This record gives sequence, structure tokens and C-alpha cells, in this order.
Amino acid sequence: MDLSYSPAEIAFQKKVRAWLAKNVPKKQRNEAPLERGDPKRVGQAKAWRPKEYGGQGLDVMHQTIVNEEMVRAQAPSLIGMMGIQMVGPTLIAHGTEEQRRAYLPKILTAEEIWCQGYSEPGSGSDLASLRTRADLQGDTFVVNGQKVWTSGAQYADRMFCLVRTDPDAPKHRGISYLLIDMKTPGITVRPLVQMTGDAGFNEVFFEDVRVPKENLVGGLHNGWQVANATLFHERNMLASTMRTQQILQALLRVAKRHKRNGKPASADPVVRQRLADLAMRVETMKLEAYRGLTEALRKRPPGISASVAKLVTCELNHQLAGAALEILGSYGWLERKDPRVVDGAVWPIDFMFALGLIIGGGTAQIQKNIISERGLGMPRELRAS
Ligand SMILES: Cc1cc2nc3c(=O)[nH]c(=O)nc-3n(C[C@H](O)[C@H](O)[C@H](O)COP(=O)(O)OP(=O)(O)OC[C@H]3O[C@@H](n4cnc5c(N)ncnc54)[C@H](O)[C@@H]3O)c2cc1C
Repeated sequence: MDLSYSPAEIAFQKKVRAWLAKNVPKKQRNEAPLERGDPKRVGQAKAWRPKEYGGQGLDVMHQTIVNEEMVRAQAPSLIGMMGIQMVGPTLIAHGTEEQRRAYLPKILTAEEIWCQGYSEPGSGSDLASLRTRADLQGDTFVVNGQKVWTSGAQYADRMFCLVRTDPDAPKHRGISYLLIDMKTPGITVRPLVQMTGDAGFNEVFFEDVRVPKENLVGGLHNGWQVANATLFHERNMLASTMRTQQILQALLRVAKRHKRNGKPASADPVVRQRLADLAMRVETMKLEAYRGLTEALRKRPPGISASVAKLVTCELNHQLAGAALEILGSYGWLERKDPRVVDGAVWPIDFMFALGLIIGGGTAQIQKNIISERGLGMPRELRAS
């Protein structure tokens, strides 16, 4: 694994760094991810989107450079990640040429925001048991049913959605993957308030929603295969160490700023040991991501690395926020409206939100099942059903 950049990559890095220095709005530096659910920030998040770096046909190495520079510039995370990192790559692999032309450019410019319609009441980890029906009538699917925990549905323009098209087939074989315009009549979105106090996800109801047949991806009843391609990209997205590195930087700032026994908390040996441990684990995950990158550049199959990274990174984000709360003591838990609030209550919100991401995109237990069965070759029989 060669961690150095070529002269051309260094030149690209300089260009990105200069662009970010000029364009990242100061107010939005290190801002919390939008997915936490403040629709008022959608316009703001779209406005600074670096259009110049979208769709240039560059390789994964250049993407890594952009990611690293965004961490360095404390840039806010990009809006529409489900488009960029989930449905976009899925359409490249499984979509028709018409679908790619229709949807990909607007994903890159953030003109269209996507949401993921997979989970249903009773169908989360056991996703293949989903019951939302789509009946093909002529050239149109008629969709009826309900999705739940749909992040960002309240401001999304489109949904990539799993529906049951053959109720008589074995459960994995009767599912199809549909692209649905969220403005279609018959769709009701009802926000759900999380423990953070924000409504990041929603219930979505479908009542005789008419979806053109050309919005089917990957063939009728073939949705499970397509869904898994998207899930793989989702794990990679959630495994990103970009946000983790930014949280670590913010934690170090808290430790330097906050006093303990008259000295900065960062001077306390117990705090220092904790910070060093966390910093080493963040660095390990960054190197693990480079290992994944090397495999991708060598065109080797990704194996279970996305599951390992998703599991560890999401838990690490939670532990980083927990460490900040411990350093801050009782001040840390003050609410946004309190005059003595620290960092706009970002830490308790991060702590609670990070817990959600240990569940979202496949729970920690499900990732452990995947790692043990596909990675370590352990028998399925040992699994809780
Ligand atoms: C913040 C957040 C955002 C989300 N966003 C979206 C979204 O945009 N779109 C979407 O479709 N969904 C979304 N989800 C839903 C998410 O995918 C599900 O919550 C997740 O898959 C778990 O499903 P469940 O909630 O039904 O829990 P269940 O599947 O009922 O699981 C309950 C518990 O049982 C455990 N368990 C279940 N099966 C097994 C097993 N076989 N072995 C061991 N343990 C098991 C689980 O690990 C968990 O601890 C989101 C969830 C969260 C928290």
C-alpha cells in the first residue's frame, strides 16, 4: 500500500484545497449532518455544493483527496448523500441508459434529493419480509403500503423503493426496485421526532400511487439483487471516516478549551489517555479505509470490509461524543435554548444521533452476523433467527 500521491494528484489536492478555502461558508464549518432533519438548512446546504468537482469522470483516488481536504477545511457534509453514494452507483450498475441520463446529473448538482424506502413496520433487519405492494396494471405500477424510518423524506424529491410485485414467490424473489417521484398523488409523509428532538426520519404512506413502468430498475421481481447493491454502498457511506475525523478534531478542541481542576482537560493524564486511545482508533479506521481503497484500485472484490468499517466507525462516533460529554460534565447535556449551552448542544445531539446510526443501515448485530458468516465462515445455525 503506497500512501503517497503522484505529482498530478498533489496538483489536484492543491486545487481542491484552494477551492474549499474560498467556498466553505465560515458559519457552516464543522456543521452537523443535515440528515438529522432540519429542512430549513436544505437550501443552505445546496447552495455551497461544489459543482466543479461533480461528474468529472475522475477515479476513486481523486474522491479520496476531495474527502481528505473536506475534513481539513471543516466543510459541512454534502446534502443528498443517498443520491451520490447509494442510488447513483446502483443506477450506474443496474439502471437503463435512459435512467442514468435522467437522474445522475441532478444527483450530482443536488437539484434532486433522494430518500430510501426500504424499512417497513415489522421489516427492518428481516427486510425481505416487506409488504408494500406494487401491482402492474398496463404500463403503470399501482403502489399501496407503508414505509417507516425514511430519512429525509420530508424534503426528498424522489425515493428508491422496494415493493412486493409477486406475493406468491419466495420472499426474496417477489421484490422489485422502483424509483418514485415524491410529488405523485397518494403519497403522505409524516415526520417522526427522534430522541434528539429533530424529525430526521418519517413514515411514508402510499395509497394507489401510480408509478410508470419505466421507473423499474433491474427487471421485474429482481429487486433483491439491486437492493443489495445499494445496501453495500450504504454501508460504505456510513463507514466513512470523514465525519469521524471531524468529530475527533472537535473533541480535541473541547478538551483544550474546557478546564478541569484549573487546567485544560487535555492536560489531565486520564483524559489524555482516553483521547490517545480514541485518536489511535480513528487513525486505524482511516488506514483501514485506505486498505479498502487499495483493494478497489486493484479491482479486488470488497469482501466484508464495508461491514467491519460500518460496525466500528459508527460505534466510534458514539464513543467520541460520549468522551466529549464526560469532559464537559453536566454542562454538556444542556439544551440548545439554555444560555450556558456548550457548542450549541452539538455533543448530546451527536451522542444520540450516533446511536441511531449504529442501528440504521443494518444494525451492529446484523453486521456481526455478516462478518461471522461471510468473513469467518461460521455456520448460520449459530445465528439467532
Ligand atoms: C437514524 C436511522 C435512520 C434510518 N433511515 C432509514 C432510511 O432512510 N430508509 C430506510 O428504509 N430505513 C431507515 N432506517 C431503518 C433501519 O434500516 C432499521 O432500523 C434497521 O434495519 C433495523 O430494523 P428495525 O428497526 O426494524 O429493528 P429489528 O430488525 O426489529 O431489530 C431489533 C433488534 O433485534 C436485533 N436482530 C434482528 N434480527 C437479528 C438477527 N438475525 N441476529 C441478531 N440480532 C438480530 C437487531 O440487531 C436489533 O437490536 C433508519 C434507522 C435509523 C435508526
